[in-house]
Amino acid sequence: MKLHEYQSKELLEKFGVAVPRGKVATDGATAKEIAKEFGGRCVVKAQVLMGGRGKAGGVKLFENADKAGQFAGELIGKRLVSIQNPQGMIVEKVLVGELIDIAEEYYLSVLLDRAEQKLVVMLSKEGGMEIEEVARTKPEAIVRLHVDPAWGLADFEVRQAVEAAKIPAPAQRQMVAMIKALVKVYLESDADLVEINPVAWTSSGKLLAADAKVSIDDNAVFRHREYEATKDDSAEDPLEAEAARRGIAYVKLDGDIGIIGNGAGLVMCSMDEVKAAGGSPANFLDVGGGAQAERVKSCVELVLMDKGIKGLLINIFGGITRGDEVAKGILEAFSTLEVGVPLVARVEGTGAAEALKMLEGTQIVGAATMQEAAKKIVALAYA
Ligand code: GDP
Ligand code: MN
Repeated sequence: MKLHEYQSKELLEKFGVAVPRGKVATDGATAKEIAKEFGGRCVVKAQVLMGGRGKAGGVKLFENADKAGQFAGELIGKRLVSIQNPQGMIVEKVLVGELIDIAEEYYLSVLLDRAEQKLVVMLSKEGGMEIEEVARTKPEAIVRLHVDPAWGLADFEVRQAVEAAKIPAPAQRQMVAMIKALVKVYLESDADLVEINPVAWTSSGKLLAADAKVSIDDNAVFRHREYEATKDDSAEDPLEAEAARRGIAYVKLDGDIGIIGNGAGLVMCSMDEVKAAGGSPANFLDVGGGAQAERVKSCVELVLMDKGIKGLLINIFGGITRGDEVAKGILEAFSTLEVGVPLVARVEGTGAAEALKMLEGTQIVGAATMQEAAKKIVALAYA
């Protein structure tokens, strides 16, 4: 789950990372009032979960509260489009921060290095721009420090990394403290990414997180209830947001054959079979174990909300999930929805015979095997 910049900064501050003062506004008038608190000298920043806001026109500096308020008012409600996110996102909130006098911009992040089975701190004197750009044009400017979560970090290792990154001497002590705090944020918040770009070194000699991006491991969000309310706007796709609200494991894809199955492995197999049969999956959806009719119905509804769908494949292997419960859910969904696309269901295992009997005589086409189901849905969908 991605956190907004303002949420990320609040979190960093709790762990002792210095951040510029700032407050969130949802309308221009409030933004103006906040700007006044900083004597009009402020930065207005769109709070959208995408990179490259600066270049997209979502970050602007002001010396005057009226102008800041006016800009905020125009920005809120607007769709911001960046290179990283061509489909764009609507701005609902802005962060109004005090203007800081940035002398230099650095890059700092903590993420997981799966191959090394360790955390990795990435530090660079080349901040402000996209780190991928630095990695391409000046890879030697990125210093990596691996952290074994069981051992933690020794001070000397951090000092060496800061030295290797050529962070200027007056900024080094604050940078060492910031790195240690960031690793703590990562571990204690169950984060899967903590990134500060840029770390601002001000002309008055302070090191501040001018931007912040924290992502919390989705499987640990339940341990951080404070983010529950904003969980669904963390998804960039509206259907994925709806899935999050419904508590359904769903990933939107580019194709046009909707897929529903039980168990991630079976769902992925179904996607492969559809592909092998010449189709293209529109989504991944795992109804989960022991799904009841009500949940199956909710899943069918969700997949059909995707307007690009040409057909729907349901593949259930009955174990704890009963086939007849699934059939009941499908039929309930079909009785309340206007379904204009063909549906093929393959139900095997516990309750399969009952399920097939229930689906008999309906518009739902049965299939004996997964391969047969995939071939049938592809043939029907593209007919
Ligand atoms: P991003 O483009 O989405 O990564 O947004 P950032 O928060 O990183 O802002 C983009 C750029 O705006 C930064 O790299 C800074 O150069 C500049 N910026 C942001 N806040 C301030 C500020 O308070 N003072 C100054 N001088 N520049 C700022
Ligand atoms: Mn940034």
